[in-house]
Amino acid sequence: MAKTPPEKLLIGAHTSTAGGVHHALLQGEEIGATTIQIFTSNQKQWKGREITKEMADLWEKTRERTGLKKIMSHSSYLINLGSPKEDLREKSVTTFRDEIKRCHKLEIDFLNFHPGSATESSTEECLEQIVSSLKKFEKLCAAGSTRLLLETTAGQGSSVGHKFEHLAFIIEELESKIPIGVCIDTCHIFAAGYDIRTKKAWEKTLDEFDDVIGLKHLYGFHLNDSMKPFASRRDRHAHLGEGEIGIEAFRFMMQHEKLREIPKYLETPKGLSMWKDEIAQLRKFAK
Ligand SMILES: [Zn+2]
Ligand SMILES: [Zn+2]
Repeated sequence: MAKTPPEKLLIGAHTSTAGGVHHALLQGEEIGATTIQIFTSNQKQWKGREITKEMADLWEKTRERTGLKKIMSHSSYLINLGSPKEDLREKSVTTFRDEIKRCHKLEIDFLNFHPGSATESSTEECLEQIVSSLKKFEKLCAAGSTRLLLETTAGQGSSVGHKFEHLAFIIEELESKIPIGVCIDTCHIFAAGYDIRTKKAWEKTLDEFDDVIGLKHLYGFHLNDSMKPFASRRDRHAHLGEGEIGIEAFRFMMQHEKLREIPKYLETPKGLSMWKDEIAQLRKFAK
């Protein structure tokens, strides 16, 4: 297979939908992005916004003109599909269903979400709950083309998804029922105890991912350096090369035969001009 030229590799950032969802695409274009991640609704509210026909049409027109591909949506932070509390779990399922519907209206490729939090239950119980919650979307998922992506977590508090085994369990249970996969957040796996600081360490982590989950299930990366140390289980993003991970990890990803083609989304602290520089640097690494 011919190598994709650096300028065509899918690299972007989490851009803003203020002023209308299509604005996020325009912002992406402004920073040299070839893909973006967005919130389709306010990520801190249960009640989602309605995507009207006008909004969807303008989005589609703008996406075609800008040529951005493999758009990712990040689901609401409030959702906990693995909650032991039935009322909270049901509320989460309802809000997540709306997330999927909005993604379908906008023909979004990936819906990224945090698997869930065990709170007062065990990790195993939480994983079982996540699976049974997700099974409810079998029919809805079949009606659109959005793939659900489990995000690797830093393991803060009682959140699950900080071990590859957790994600492997969910995928095994669901892969024949719904379109599912994984998005690796570089800051989170590092904070969770998977080293990626050197070429050797990255290769070992990648081998482990392949053994436990399988590389064919990897669809995207959130690119972040980490303000917190290795295995700290704390989630604080830093600009690429300005944290505990260091720039070599990102050079490795842009040069690795398999990883360079996988879409990448910056979630580094806000700033359009900073993202523009980071995207340009990543493309340079890919040459
Ligand atoms: Zn996230
Ligand atoms: Zn994070």
